[in-house]
Amino acid sequence: MSTNLFAKIPSVDSLLKRPGIQQLIDHYSRGFVLRQLDQFLAELRSKIKQGLMDSSELESATSMIEDHLTLVLQQRLAPSLLKVINATGVIVFTNAGRAPMAPDLAERVSEVATSYTNLEYDLKKGSRGHRDQHLEDRIKRLLDCEAATVCNNAAAAVFLILNTLSAGKKALVSRGELVEIGGSFRIPEIMVKSGAVLREVGTTNKTKAEDYEKSIEDDTALILRVHQSNYRIVGFTHRPSLEELVTIADKNAIPLVHDIGSGYLFRTQHPCLQDEPTVEASLAAGSHLICFSGDKLLGGPQAGVIIGKKDIVDRIRKNPLMRACRVDKMTYAALDWTLLQYEKGTFEKTLPVWQLLSTPAESIRNRALEIKKRISSRVLEVSIREGVSLTGGGSAPEEEIPTWLLAITSTRHSPNQLEDSLRSYEIPILSRIEEDQVLLDLRTVFPDQDEIVIEALTQFSTTA
Ligand SMILES: *Cc1c(COP(=O)(O)O)cnc(C)c1O
Repeated sequence: MSTNLFAKIPSVDSLLKRPGIQQLIDHYSRGFVLRQLDQFLAELRSKIKQGLMDSSELESATSMIEDHLTLVLQQRLAPSLLKVINATGVIVFTNAGRAPMAPDLAERVSEVATSYTNLEYDLKKGSRGHRDQHLEDRIKRLLDCEAATVCNNAAAAVFLILNTLSAGKKALVSRGELVEIGGSFRIPEIMVKSGAVLREVGTTNKTKAEDYEKSIEDDTALILRVHQSNYRIVGFTHRPSLEELVTIADKNAIPLVHDIGSGYLFRTQHPCLQDEPTVEASLAAGSHLICFSGDKLLGGPQAGVIIGKKDIVDRIRKNPLMRACRVDKMTYAALDWTLLQYEKGTFEKTLPVWQLLSTPAESIRNRALEIKKRISSRVLEVSIREGVSLTGGGSAPEEEIPTWLLAITSTRHSPNQLEDSLRSYEIPILSRIEEDQVLLDLRTVFPDQDEIVIEALTQFSTTA
């Protein structure tokens, strides 16, 4: 019986003659279509072998093979990395790719990506240049520092700094700053991998200036100050000011390295960022070296920026591992465009992260009301309520930004089902569930995406 079925499987040659298959080959390529065809036939053989297919099922499967292949090919070709709508209200949302970029930035990136560039070519001298030339002058002007270099991300920056300055030597860190930033970035682990010898100072809640002073030995290479980023120690606490640490570092002729995290360059009026340290203030306090992320509050591409004293930055540049952590021309273009917005003084208007942060709650409320009005559904209950958005990305963890939320329930779907089908929409929509309601925070939804949210919610009135 099953032997007969095997004989009924059409040959590859005969299938290749079918016009529908030929069309697919013309559209894609012979090799690509053949691979999927072979796989399809192997599946048929396996199903027959397991007794999962009878003669009529086999017939209908082979008659619909063109449709099946078209679908499979489309699935194979779909990218895994997708554009999504972030309705969680977390602005620098690491799992959603952190800082979104402005269309103008994308254009700038596209310009250098599709052409040869002077990435490492000094056009004045007509000889080899250095890729940092494209950023250093702007950063120096902007922040009034001596030197700057860029690597893959801030984790790499910390690693490179420690490896260059402190391999085999002690690096002092307060016990209150031995943090995990998330995504398995743990300061103590990075230190071990870099070859630096971790010398813990003080206690979790209290570290005094004297604790650092007492801990300095002949083989102490640096003091590392780490921004606690995603958590706060409150209550009976103390840590020395940056200025105090700089004084101790200077007295002992070692650098004070500040891992500042978010790349918040200058103080702004934002109430939620009043406690967030700025790069400008860290430089003013005398930090010898500062590193930060490109794609958190800075609002640019993934990158790790290292700035500070020229002799130290030069040493880091010469570290052979720098070559392993360097970034490509697209990152230079994106970072430079981002920094240009700061130099022009327009960053709060032109960088998406800052646009989202600055959107007044009132305008979010108006958009939410408009969406609510447009969703008329027998199954959905849509209401509007006050809520809070978060900066995310390890900045200002306690600060809440006032916002308005769309709160949605359904008479036919559980909150999990609602959340799931929004997430499975053509353009996936990320939301959250609280108290059995699906919540959408439009603070992190770009206004031109409101229509998509409306379409996605409308599906519940038609398919229910
Ligand atoms: C986020 C953060 C890092 C890691 O930055 P990435 O760019 O994600 O590698 C390091 N240190 C601090 C203090 C941070 O907040």
